[in-house]
Amino acid sequence: AKPRVVVIGGGAGGATAARYLAKDSAGGLDVTLIEANPIYTTCFFSNLYLGGFREFESLQHSYDGIAAGGVTVINDMATGVDRAAKTVTLAGGQTVPYDRLILSPGIDFRDGAVPGWSADEHADIMPHAYKAGPQTQLLKSMVESMPQGGTFAMIAPPNPYRCPPGPYERVSMVAHLLKQTNPTAKILVLDPKDNFSKRALFEEGWGRHYDGMIDWVGPEFGGGAVEVRPDTMEILVEGEVQKVDVCNVIPGQIAGKIAAIAGVTDDSGWAPVHPDSMKSRTDENVYVLGDSSAQGDMPKSGYSANSQAKVAAMSIRGELLGSKVFPAKYSNTCWSLIAPEDGVKVGASYEPTPEKIASVESFISATGEDAALRKVTYEESLGWYSGITADMFG
Ligand code: FAD
Repeated sequence: AKPRVVVIGGGAGGATAARYLAKDSAGGLDVTLIEANPIYTTCFFSNLYLGGFREFESLQHSYDGIAAGGVTVINDMATGVDRAAKTVTLAGGQTVPYDRLILSPGIDFRDGAVPGWSADEHADIMPHAYKAGPQTQLLKSMVESMPQGGTFAMIAPPNPYRCPPGPYERVSMVAHLLKQTNPTAKILVLDPKDNFSKRALFEEGWGRHYDGMIDWVGPEFGGGAVEVRPDTMEILVEGEVQKVDVCNVIPGQIAGKIAAIAGVTDDSGWAPVHPDSMKSRTDENVYVLGDSSAQGDMPKSGYSANSQAKVAAMSIRGELLGSKVFPAKYSNTCWSLIAPEDGVKVGASYEPTPEKIASVESFISATGEDAALRKVTYEESLGWYSGITADMFG
């Protein structure tokens, strides 16, 4: 029988890995992808949907192309992993055996991360919109129905979390929408971090495009110790109660639950991996990709997950089929849109050291860049979106 590779999670990491394993092994591997949702909605560019730059449908992708590429796609939730028996159990009752297991389940939210809020009870009132889909649509409809001059609050997450510039791109896109429909509205960002990704670029852009609309409150003024009362749409900052109209709670994060169930996470809540292969440090038959992995310097991004997936697929083909394994190289770029055609980016290339995946060379957009360059940067991001979704889904 052919060696069996099972992938849990058909997102940026898992979809890429499944597709490359099937494609590059020319039928030599039996590849199964287990994914809870029949349609994947990208978090990447979901902020552009909030800003009115993308249709919701343009974020959605089916698994038909992956299945056509020779992967067995199972739409079900993985509920258990027996690493001794090398099997995965599904909610539907099926047991799926593996020789190598790839986990790329994205993120889950840390219990109690924001006092007063839980994903199960309050995401309908104070959405996170940090897993794309109905949550993203809910947040947009809430912004659209805000009263004139109302307040949009965001509770930003502590490090590490998926997409470091994501909350700040979201603020920019919400500001863009409000500027047109509700120009006296206010945006209040409450942040537990002293600093954030591309801060100088965002603050410059906020001043230029949305002057006076956005108020960022760091930890020294209580931004890090916010309590929420979803039932009354109130937030408490340093003991003071404030009523808001929309509250986007982006809580502290951990690896997707199945990684902990599989027993490959540590006390941090993330899953440590070997930097040269993305193989779990706990089990040599398990790989962990993307947001769930603790690997070093790479940000938790779709670009990173896609890059890591190719390294893991190459390592697995080497182990199971004896194909050549080249030294691992990784890369990432995170683009953000601040206003129409005002795009910025940050990125790096990475190489493994024994301890971690280490940043080798990095770049970032500069403040004061002219509009033409910002437009080119934005256009680059459009090309990247088409490229990565084609790479993931075929
Ligand atoms: P995901 O892509 O989340 O995939 C995980 C999949 O696993 C999901 O489909 C889920 O349904 C499935 N799953 C989980 N558990 C199970 C289970 N037990 N059984 C079956 N299926 C399961 N990244 C960029 O590179 N560029 C950007 O511009 C960008 N913008 C972003 C903007 C926002 C607002 C957000 C929230 C994120 C953004 N990201 C961006 C980050 C990017 O979305 C993630 O880093 C990336 O999706 C991580 O890939 P992954 O494979 O780890 O997880």
